[in-house]
Amino acid sequence: MFRRRRTIDGSPDGTGGFPAAWRSIVEQRVRMFAWLDADEQQRLEAIALDLIADKDWEAAHGFELTDEIIVTIAAQAALLVLELPADAYRNVSTILVQPSAVRLERAHRTSQGLMSDDRMLVDGQAFFGGPVMIAWEAARFEARHPGRGTNVVLHEFAHKLDMLDGTLDGTPPLADQAQRERWIEVCTHVYRAVEIGEGGEALRSYAGIDAAEFFAVATEVFFDRPHLLRDEHPDLYECLHDFYGQDPATRTDR
Ligand SMILES: [Zn+2]
Repeated sequence: MFRRRRTIDGSPDGTGGFPAAWRSIVEQRVRMFAWLDADEQQRLEAIALDLIADKDWEAAHGFELTDEIIVTIAAQAALLVLELPADAYRNVSTILVQPSAVRLERAHRTSQGLMSDDRMLVDGQAFFGGPVMIAWEAARFEARHPGRGTNVVLHEFAHKLDMLDGTLDGTPPLADQAQRERWIEVCTHVYRAVEIGEGGEALRSYAGIDAAEFFAVATEVFFDRPHLLRDEHPDLYECLHDFYGQDPATRTDR
């Protein structure tokens, strides 16, 4: 593993935002950045800077991290927690970047609910108490081409938010009991629909593997195809809106 802890020269104007070269990367490579207003952009940069400085960024053997890779991944991860507490990623210590999808050797669950020993290519993984793995090829493509309903960075970092309360069960820490009850009621209802193939266009079958994948996939669609999710599953959209404190559908209308 190649390990590098980043040191950052703050922006010369002292705003705490990105250096100019990084601003240019995020403007050109992360399409969702343009959907944010100036205040949101500034906060996203501050969160991304903390992620870049505070977390260990590692590259798979033989692969080298560039500013483009780190900034593109950090900016997307920052978007997810734009309105969440500053320590929302306290359980993320390491971000491991692979050049492309990785072959899993172990048994895994399939969307049909069966255990399979087939080898499976994955673009990301979030380990309980361990690193987040991201395949750069997918992260790079999805940052530049939103609107397909998939985003590996949002997916894997959503798993880390889910793990914050000690269980990977599709329910991240919520504000109170009422929000929690509403969350479980709505998610259970939509999850059952996905299980029987009635999740609509928004939620791909992978969301039906278990509650954790349901939350991660719903998060991807909430940010990447927000209008579709709001149209097909307004209650689920509302729950995610309440949790993330963001309204991506309204944002993209601006
Ligand atoms: Zn997942």
